[in-house]
Amino acid sequence: MKKLAELYAGKAKTVYTTNDPDQLILHFRNDTSAFDGEKIAQLDRKGMVNNRFNAFMMQQLEAAGIPTHFDKILSDEESLVKNLEMLPIECVVRNISTGSLVRRLGVEDGLDLEPPIFEFFLKNDELHDPMINDYHIITFNWASQPEIERMKDLTFRINDILKKLFFDAGLLLVDYKLEFGRYQGELLLGDEFTPDGCRLWDAKTREKLDKDRFRQGLGGVVEAYEEVGRRLGVELPSSKA
Ligand code: 5GP
Repeated sequence: MKKLAELYAGKAKTVYTTNDPDQLILHFRNDTSAFDGEKIAQLDRKGMVNNRFNAFMMQQLEAAGIPTHFDKILSDEESLVKNLEMLPIECVVRNISTGSLVRRLGVEDGLDLEPPIFEFFLKNDELHDPMINDYHIITFNWASQPEIERMKDLTFRINDILKKLFFDAGLLLVDYKLEFGRYQGELLLGDEFTPDGCRLWDAKTREKLDKDRFRQGLGGVVEAYEEVGRRLGVELPSSKA
């Protein structure tokens, strides 16, 4: 398998084509961005930590019966994945109120949400990823009705799997964002699952151990990701290396 051309450079990852049209290479860079690219920084080791973290999470999800695009790690910062036709949609589940939910609805921060809340957003930085619902998706042909049902079903199944995985590691899965894509007639989980796209709080102290550390200028961003990885059993080289 040979790396060919750059297909797309996102804010934290670059996607490359390979000599196999069904496979792509994801390169997790050290770049970190927030607020639709308004705040940007380079964080040492982040590409490597997120590549390994993502591989661990995708393998856990596969083992629990969730179909994902992940194939294998290729290098410190690169993984091989299936070439999906991505849907322009973000699926968010919230177990605890915070972030844009609190800003939008004026509800208290830190409330347990029972049942958890599911939201769709349109993936569009220029429009600041506006919230959408099933009707927008159908009318504008962003996905079919069965695909909508499948995204909801998979996203909630992932919630059950990951809430437990994190809770057993002393962490609360506050909320997270998933993206799906089509592959040979099936919908697979694509993109990544790392602390860049979810919120994780220490179960006892509620300390933030995710990208909110970057968004809110709290520092220790990669150290927090490594702490989460260490608690889950993700293989990470010593940070002193
Ligand atoms: P919120 O809507 O509160 O800003 O985000 C809800 C959850 O989805 C958070 O865990 C946040 O990290 C994730 N999320 C929402 N939109 C994006 C996005 O465009 N990029 C990334 N990396 N995560 C997102």
